[in-house]
Amino acid sequence: MNILLLGSGGREHALSWKLAQSPTCEKLFAAPGNPGIAECATLVKLDATDHDAVAAFCAVQAIDLVVIGPEAPLVDGLADALRAAGVAVFGPNKAAAQLEGSKGFTKDLCARANIPTAGYVRTTSLEQARAALPRFSLPVVIKADGLAAGKGVIIAETHNQADEALVDMFSGSFGAAGAEVVLEEFMTGEEASFFALTDGTDILAFGSAQDHKRVGDGDTGPNTGGMGAYSPARVLTPELEREAMERIIRPTVDTMRAEGMPYSGVLYAGLMLTPEGPKLVEYNARFGDPECQVLMMRLEEDLAELLMDVATGRLGERGAVTMAEDCALTVVMAAKGYPGTPDKGGAISGIDAAEGTAPGIKVFHAGTALADGALVASGGRVLNVTALGASIAQAQVRAYAAVDALSFPSGFCRRDIGWREVEREQD
Ligand code: ATP
Repeated sequence: MNILLLGSGGREHALSWKLAQSPTCEKLFAAPGNPGIAECATLVKLDATDHDAVAAFCAVQAIDLVVIGPEAPLVDGLADALRAAGVAVFGPNKAAAQLEGSKGFTKDLCARANIPTAGYVRTTSLEQARAALPRFSLPVVIKADGLAAGKGVIIAETHNQADEALVDMFSGSFGAAGAEVVLEEFMTGEEASFFALTDGTDILAFGSAQDHKRVGDGDTGPNTGGMGAYSPARVLTPELEREAMERIIRPTVDTMRAEGMPYSGVLYAGLMLTPEGPKLVEYNARFGDPECQVLMMRLEEDLAELLMDVATGRLGERGAVTMAEDCALTVVMAAKGYPGTPDKGGAISGIDAAEGTAPGIKVFHAGTALADGALVASGGRVLNVTALGASIAQAQVRAYAAVDALSFPSGFCRRDIGWREVEREQD
């Protein structure tokens, strides 16, 4: 089959790397891609917001399947336009992508389907939000309803902080994403990410991971898009995974279908493992970045065939997804300054040396570019140094040995990715 992959980050490099290994994948195109993706796919210039142009490209190149990496084109309805043009798509339609695109939508769905999650109130004005605030004990969680690239969530420790966050959100600092604000009860527990593939009816578990949102070692400093991840997240025991599937994922898929918004694609559940069991923190309508990188390293399936089965409603004909017993861990190398303004243009070398330090090492590109034929940093998160190992501890040692074999003087990384699991393995 011929496949078009949309996106340009480390997640898409991992997807293209795995798709290119699929015996069923004949031609692989990617737009806009990056220099790493260019090693796996033919890069094309396409604007994902121009739905007609993407559909026209699919017609000309006889594309059988479009894989949409990031959330913005999903929330924007690209999958609807492509399906209307007769192209199979991996990723939900606009209505179903509201599970990521509107936190209020998801909270209401949880209420209707009796899915465990934090108590909440949806508000559309500062007055309404201020009136609701006293109902919550501290800390209270305040969220812009729409997409805010991970920056639209404030955990307020005092009523003053909460009020400041509300004033800020309703004053338009998040644009349309902050026109509605959700107030939520604070949940305590450890967080884990759980992934499920669904064609709208059938569901297959796709593994677990844990990411590291804060920029600094020991989970300190500001939030980022993610500084590293590992899989599996053993804190999500098979029993908790079953509970998450039965009490959270399945009722979501069933309710979406029953209400005329069948969800097709990967459903990424951010879970809080509370003393009362797993509760939903949020849904994402796509693979996580960098969680996708560790999942792709462990996947022992023909990815093209699997994603096509999701897109065409044939998951019921398949058995469970096979993942390697091995663990995978990825370290994000970012440009200095990230998550503020990153240094751009810094030279990068030694990727082959890094990949040669042990078997099962792969360096995925995120924000890289070629300048006069030389590889340089072009974004905040630049490389994802990813390793397999028999344990998270072994994958961690291998990933950092590969990091040390790279030369990227204007970059930095956390030195403790996987620390929770490494501690658990030592116990
Ligand atoms: P992401 O970047 O993960 O997509 P997002 O902007 O979609 O973030 P959420 O995932 O809803 O927002 O929240 C971000 C983080 O805030 C969560 O990973 C979690 O650590 C914390 N958080 C959110 N809601 C709650 C809650 N109700 N109780 C405790 N912590 C919460």
